[in-house]
Amino acid sequence: MERLAITTFSAIMLIIKQPADLSAYLQKERRSGKKCGFIPTMGALHQGHLSLVNRAKEENELVVCSIFVNPTQFNDPKDFELYPKTLENDIYLLEKAACDVLFLPATVQIYPPGKVHDEWYDLGELESVLEGKYRPGHFQGVCQVVQRLIHIVEPEQLYIGQKDYQQCMVIKKLLSLIHVQTNVVICSTLREPNGLAMSSRNMRLSPEEKGKAAGIFEALSYISQNIQPGTLEHILAQAGNILSRYGLRADYVEIATAADLRLIDNWNGQTEIVALIAAYMGKVRLIDNMILPLNFAGYGN
Ligand code: AMP
Repeated sequence: MERLAITTFSAIMLIIKQPADLSAYLQKERRSGKKCGFIPTMGALHQGHLSLVNRAKEENELVVCSIFVNPTQFNDPKDFELYPKTLENDIYLLEKAACDVLFLPATVQIYPPGKVHDEWYDLGELESVLEGKYRPGHFQGVCQVVQRLIHIVEPEQLYIGQKDYQQCMVIKKLLSLIHVQTNVVICSTLREPNGLAMSSRNMRLSPEEKGKAAGIFEALSYISQNIQPGTLEHILAQAGNILSRYGLRADYVEIATAADLRLIDNWNGQTEIVALIAAYMGKVRLIDNMILPLNFAGYGN
């Protein structure tokens, strides 16, 4: 177990690398009645991640954040290789946010060699639409790592971001499949001043590309402001045009039911829906979404 103290901050954050050390520490803390909030991340932290830490700090006596770039959720090896790593700054930011524990396992601790790691989770339709369709195997990898982390940390509350809307649904499904009672808290998306959703992947964009990537937010806002009951073909095409104008190459622009992510091409004006986009700016793939208001013009609700 390592201890890291930065004298400018009053709190001390533990950095723990071994799962057994973390379990032992958390067990001891729990005996004094502390409730644990957990934020799993892949590092390259930004204010979006920290908003989850801050929320967890407000709602729990003990906050654990993990940094682990999970190899099994990358369907593209190049994406895994290029995933940004900024550990020193991450530690600095977590200390500043008064995070209590940083769990920093190595791959061998999460996927011990000599053991078979071939679980399969029945995620139903969630696995074949949107991110599931474009990133085959991605959500199985997410489930593998989240199951392992949850079993190590056993948090009362898990904090995840709406930015990864489908992942939120997958994680909820996973917890029900493995019969874990952890409460899932979905936190809203933090954005740059131009609307671009904060993401570790933004670090790979040039300043000019960051400007253009805000086209994703513009397209989502366009949908949100102009959606009407009836066929959605035209509005989706218009949103696609906005992306093209900014030089964004879309994998998908879709509208789905918010509750179960069923893709729809016609809206009854009453069901809660979400618009979702995945698009490339250069070589960087970005995703974002917006839950659409039901108080559109014409219905007065
Ligand atoms: P990641 O490190 O990308 O795996 O993200 C770790 C957690 O932070 C996930 O639950 C994400 O949904 C969440 N997150 C990522 N970006 C944002 C953001 N801009 N605002 C709020 N939460 C976010």
